[in-house]
Amino acid sequence: MGDVHNFMPDLTIRQMISEVIKGKMLTAKEISKTLGIKEKDVLEHLKHVAKTGGRKGRFVIAPPFCHKCSFVFKKRNRIGTPSRCPLCRSEGIAEARYGIETNEKNEL
Ligand SMILES: [Zn+2]
Repeated sequence: MGDVHNFMPDLTIRQMISEVIKGKMLTAKEISKTLGIKEKDVLEHLKHVAKTGGRKGRFVIAPPFCHKCSFVFKKRNRIGTPSRCPLCRSEGIAEARYGIETNEKNEL
């Protein structure tokens, strides 16, 4: 397994991811860069964050879409970005974005 797991329990990483995407919409790549963990690992952790939700908010996904024909993967309420558009078969797919909507509007 990944090197991060050796010195940091999963829970901590997931909490960190929750913090990073709170009030924002970020791609797995951006989260990966911010936290210095592999994009593949980010996606795995996001699956768990999606299930449990942020403690102080709601996990949301901005669906991926095709750059070529603008097809939106609306029903794809899953983690990850498809590699190819089902309509035009283009591989230019805009990545899904993940975020946590908070209810704390007074808190900045
Ligand atoms: Zn397309």
